[in-house]
Amino acid sequence: MAFFDRLKAGLAKTRSNLVGRASSLFSKPVDDSVLEDLEEILIMSDVGPAAANEIIESIRSKNAKGGVTDLKAALKAEMANLLNDDSGLLMVDRPFVIMVVGVNGVGKTTSIGKMSKKYYDEGMQVTLAAGDTFRAAAIEQLEIWARRTNAQLVKHQSGSDPAAVAYDAVISASARSSDVVIVDTAGRLHTKSNLMDELKKIHRVIGKAMPHAPHEVLLVLDATTGQNALQQAKTFNKMTALTGIILTKLDGSAKGGIVLAIKKELGLPVKLIGVGEGVEDLQDFNSTEYVEALFQDV
Ligand code: GDP
Ligand code: MG
Repeated sequence: MAFFDRLKAGLAKTRSNLVGRASSLFSKPVDDSVLEDLEEILIMSDVGPAAANEIIESIRSKNAKGGVTDLKAALKAEMANLLNDDSGLLMVDRPFVIMVVGVNGVGKTTSIGKMSKKYYDEGMQVTLAAGDTFRAAAIEQLEIWARRTNAQLVKHQSGSDPAAVAYDAVISASARSSDVVIVDTAGRLHTKSNLMDELKKIHRVIGKAMPHAPHEVLLVLDATTGQNALQQAKTFNKMTALTGIILTKLDGSAKGGIVLAIKKELGLPVKLIGVGEGVEDLQDFNSTEYVEALFQDV
């Protein structure tokens, strides 16, 4: 399946929840009651009150000036405008070091595997660091991805210091002229402050192995957890400055509007999105494509 079809398929639930319900409004003359209904639909799709309000007020003021004749086009334009920041992952140095954080089960390790595949396909040498040393199974899971994607794996025994694993991975990648290092981390929440301290330490130690690294600190959020995801982002952002979001499981969520809430409320760019379980289903986030895919066939 082509890139855009995968995106479209992955957004099917959100499309019917958001655009499907709004479509009855698109044929009506734009007035206060239509805009109120639209705002409600946006909020129910996890767009969040702040972003929903911004979108609606902008349409309202444009409507007051000249009259908005095509509400669907106006909504698309406002959404694209709000999201407009497709910075992606800019490889600023070599090795390019990416640290991946997030709570358990959100899709960190799978996303790392998918990224590793993508970089390998682009002809790059990838090093994966098994920084989730909490469970032996977590190391094995990354090991399988390393094998599948021809990446070098740096691991220590389970229970060992994850900062040391990350340090070794960066040093080893530099020595081997590896292009990319991706550091997996643990995500257990029940020891929250320990986890945050641990992540801070990993971050600091990576910086000792290579100045200015890590170049990206990506927080993985599960789109199906809704507003809870925003809370997680705030907690993790206190630990270390995040550079962006990987938003997974959009295919399982009817509330893909969360992309707008993340942008508006956290000011963080969504850099990658997961729209399925397949290895090709982790895509660079592109706001124009996202909005196009959301509104297709409606
Ligand atoms: P971690 O604990 O954060 O490392 O999470 P894992 O990478 O182990 O993933 C947890 C589960 O989420 C796995 O079963 C993945 O296959 C699944 N998963 C990850 N990303 C996606 C996605 O974009 N869509 C779907 N449907 N499942 C995903
Ligand atoms: Mg994991």
